[in-house]
Amino acid sequence: MVLEPLVKILFIILATFFVLNCSPQGSEEDSYLVARQRMVKEDIQKRGIDDPRLLEAMLKVKRHLFVPKDYRHLAYEDRPLPIGEGQTISQPYIVALMTYHLHIKPGDKVLEIGTGSGYQAAILAELAKEVYTIEIIEKLAEKAQERLKRLGYRNVWVKCGDGFFGWKEHAPYDAIIVTCAAPKIPEHLIEQLKEGGRMILPLGDDPFFQSLTLITKREGKIEKKQITAVVFVPMTGEIEKERK
Ligand code: SAH
Repeated sequence: MVLEPLVKILFIILATFFVLNCSPQGSEEDSYLVARQRMVKEDIQKRGIDDPRLLEAMLKVKRHLFVPKDYRHLAYEDRPLPIGEGQTISQPYIVALMTYHLHIKPGDKVLEIGTGSGYQAAILAELAKEVYTIEIIEKLAEKAQERLKRLGYRNVWVKCGDGFFGWKEHAPYDAIIVTCAAPKIPEHLIEQLKEGGRMILPLGDDPFFQSLTLITKREGKIEKKQITAVVFVPMTGEIEKERK
């Protein structure tokens, strides 16, 4: 008599437990969330990135949706990963570090050179009003555009082209980020930067070592500050002519 309701309760508990744990979608998403929380705390926050809006964005954007399926299990490791066409998605700490130095405000208009997977663009879209991003490889540009649309980003515009020339129609920009290594500062990008605006880029000709450089435009002149050593894929297109 007393036993019957107890058995019922036990059955409900067991059934709930079974349903929750057997939902592959839910448990996979949960494990990514735990991994993402670890990444933000250990690889980003503990290494000195203390901007709450940026940390929130890094926690919100699901990096595993920007990498090929075979690499998803590595999405929250602090390392770059292949995205096809010989290109890579940058290491999360470097994405955070570059964004951190741009001091993006909610009303800002930002230009990115090197869309790649679209991950950096999504982080920027969480922080700025408008994001314009240029990718030179058509296949990557199309995929990134489709992915960002599917994820609901309405404030990102992707264009296939050579970022060396910038995107004049929407200039000037509050901030510019270049996610491929340039042997010298592309002058069109300086022209398209607002007075007081910031630009960050990996500068250098060596494929295994470049200097992450922060540029501030003041009264038409530029101030340069070296941040750290980085390794990025090279900028291709027009700028290659100047390498020779
Ligand atoms: N920001 C990307 C990673 C960039 S990898 C992400 O979050 O996934 C660098 C990218 O720059 C590559 O996709 C490469 O094709 C692109 N790239 C190289 N030279 C370029 C140029 N001149 N203009 C635009 N994109 C360029």
